[in-house]
Amino acid sequence: MRNTIFSKAIELQDKLEETGSGQNKEHFEFKFKNEDKNILVTLEIEDNRTTINCTCLHSTLNGDALCSYQLAVLFLKFKQSLRKLKKRW
Ligand SMILES: [Zn+2]
Repeated sequence: MRNTIFSKAIELQDKLEETGSGQNKEHFEFKFKNEDKNILVTLEIEDNRTTINCTCLHSTLNGDALCSYQLAVLFLKFKQSLRKLKKRW
C-alpha cells in the first residue's frame, strides 16, 4: 500500500499528545523514541481564521502545504468534536 499523507496521519495518532492550550491556541507534540527532536504543531482558531503551524522539515520547506502532522492534529480535533456531539445527543 502506498504511504499516503492520510495513512501516515492515522499512524501518527499514537505519538500525538496535547501539551497545552491558551485562549485561541492549542499546542500538540509528537514524541518519537529514536529521535531527539520532537515535532510541534500549533493550532490557532480566531473567529473565522484557522492557522496551523508545524516544525517538521516538510512544513519548513513548503510553507503553507499541509503535512501529515498537521493532518493528524486535525483528525484528533475532529474525533474530539464527534465525541462531544455524541454526548450531547
Ligand atoms: Zn509538518
